[in-house]
Amino acid sequence: MRSKHHVIMSVVFVFLDGVGLAPATHDNPLAAAATPALHALLGGPLTLEQATQRISSTQRMLFKPIDATLGVPGLPQSGTGHTALLAGVNAAALHGRHQPHFPPVALRPLLAEQSIFRQVLARGGRATFANAFGPGYWQALAARRIRKSASVIAAEGAGLRFRDGNDLRDGQAVSWDVTNAAMQLREPDMNIPLVHPAEAGANLAALATDHEFVFYESFLPDLAGHGRLTPEARNDTPGIESQVQVVMALLDGLIGGVLGVLRPGDTVLITSDHGNVESLAEPVHTRNPVPLLAVGPGAAAFAQVEAISGIAQAIMNAL
Ligand SMILES: [Zn+2]
Repeated sequence: MRSKHHVIMSVVFVFLDGVGLAPATHDNPLAAAATPALHALLGGPLTLEQATQRISSTQRMLFKPIDATLGVPGLPQSGTGHTALLAGVNAAALHGRHQPHFPPVALRPLLAEQSIFRQVLARGGRATFANAFGPGYWQALAARRIRKSASVIAAEGAGLRFRDGNDLRDGQAVSWDVTNAAMQLREPDMNIPLVHPAEAGANLAALATDHEFVFYESFLPDLAGHGRLTPEARNDTPGIESQVQVVMALLDGLIGGVLGVLRPGDTVLITSDHGNVESLAEPVHTRNPVPLLAVGPGAAAFAQVEAISGIAQAIMNAL
């Protein structure tokens, strides 16, 4: 149900797991991916050459590389990376190393209490987690087959409502896999229709109408970079390069949909937790910088961000 609360200015955070920035070499599938929305925005592919750090006043856009290693040796990982992004802390340094998949147990209270969601609420704003979750997700958690993601811990800590299949059908949520193809397979009883990526993006941007802060996350790039996309999203070719290109085309469609619907006062932020898809050399994470792409009147608030741990504060400054 739509709230009457009407928001003039919002930040829509599109978090893409495992997207780094590297030069446009033959080793970088992002150089050749079919990403027309990003091309139109950046004047080229999502590669290091376009990340000039300049703020264009006419386009109200900032595109720069930011650090994901957090000064900690080894390959950056999702558990500490997500915590750094959502809570604005150097989670890898606090934990003493990069931790994959899920946040370190010791950092969960901090994440629950200091996330961007909580900060927006504390300021009297409204925040929402745009992803939809089916009953299978909650059952897997209850059965301890998986652990809570950083985003779920942060949203729970802020008391946010989790969107579900009804929200997806109503265009009031987006699936982590963009088109609902994976959601259909995993949650067959939910009767979720497929959605075009641009429509998913438009649905996402529309949530900014009544929320100051909208968060969406997709793990598609990281799965593709590891060569682990589930068959339904994989096309016919199993190679990592083609998996990455399929996924980036989907996400470009989503981004195009967001940009097409976003209101003049809204800002979209796109960033990641560590590199992966930008290098075919090995199917593992990289220590490359990640993209910080901000489009809208709040873009300048991100100009001083140098690492993923600076994103949360910059979002608060943009609002
Ligand atoms: Zn990750």
